[in-house]
Amino acid sequence: MTDLQPATAPRSTSTIQTVSFLGLGAMGFPMAGHLVGNFDRVLVWNRNFDKAKLHEKEFGSSAADFETAVSADVIFSCVPTSLETAELIDRAKPYLKKGSVWVDCTSGVPEAAKMAAQNLQTLGCQFVDAPVSGQTIGAINGTLTVMAGGEKSALDYAYPAIDCFAGRIEHVGKSGGGFAVKAVNNTLFAVNSWALGEGLSVLKAHGVSPSAALACINHSSGQSFASTVTFPDRIVNRSFPKTFTLDLMAKDCGIASDLQQQAKLPAPVMAMVASFMRAASNQVEAGSADFSEFIKFLEQWNQQEISDDFDAQ
Ligand code: NDP
Repeated sequence: MTDLQPATAPRSTSTIQTVSFLGLGAMGFPMAGHLVGNFDRVLVWNRNFDKAKLHEKEFGSSAADFETAVSADVIFSCVPTSLETAELIDRAKPYLKKGSVWVDCTSGVPEAAKMAAQNLQTLGCQFVDAPVSGQTIGAINGTLTVMAGGEKSALDYAYPAIDCFAGRIEHVGKSGGGFAVKAVNNTLFAVNSWALGEGLSVLKAHGVSPSAALACINHSSGQSFASTVTFPDRIVNRSFPKTFTLDLMAKDCGIASDLQQQAKLPAPVMAMVASFMRAASNQVEAGSADFSEFIKFLEQWNQQEISDDFDAQ
């Protein structure tokens, strides 16, 4: 469903005066920065409040207490899971402004989006599940893909604010639709990544360096985001920059697995890779490893690294 104006439309502030952002993590911090200058007031709040003060200093937003932040016209949240979003909404209830729209950019659970939407409706507010894709670099550049679920009227209202950090905004359906698309998208990325890890292991065992193999694959039909970006930039060079943690990836694959179970549909490849990601995540402390470090789990099986640590034959 693409009945909205394209994300390339001129940015306008419409009737929104105050926007707030809750959760200034790896994604939220740069996303909130793009709001500044587009609205009368841009309020930021974070559990560790020092980050809100840092944001104010860096971007010119206003660090605000929780009660003030959640009384904005459009409230963004970007926290690890739907559990934290539900906690925030519960805490915010006495302070919400009638007619406001809560836009949750967390990669969350579709059922939780439906509950949040019902919950907020009783207070005269609306909820949009609006998870994002594009990694931290997309958040910094303001080019994120936003997959939105919920009432069109809510999305229309919040659109000028979402547009500040988006390269593309797609209304995918009712409440929970955005979260569902995000979970499946990340699972497809995990499937590609896992399969590429297997393929490069086989090739390395036969004397082909991963970089040489990627140079061919990236100009052939086997190429993917994993082969063009993730493996060269994070894995083969062993840099593993921590921008999206492995436990969050395992969480997203788990959400897709639950959706598959609820629909009673066989999806063995997605389910298996979700289990691999969970197993890899269980090997490390939560929040301590980048998602690309799943490869170390596969490398343990194969007793070889996906790196160019030998002379290719
Ligand atoms: P981070 O771990 O970097 O940030 C998490 C944020 O949530 C922090 O601001 C943290 O506050 C806050 N938070 C955690 N628990 C609570 C709580 N109980 N109450 C209030 N605030 C809380 O995560 P990311 O920014 O990487 O990810 C956020 C969401 O975006 C996740 O759902 C993730 O799956 C998704 N995502 C991430 C991408 C990435 O590349 N990183 C890409 C696309 C989506 P504090 O500073 O106090 O700890």
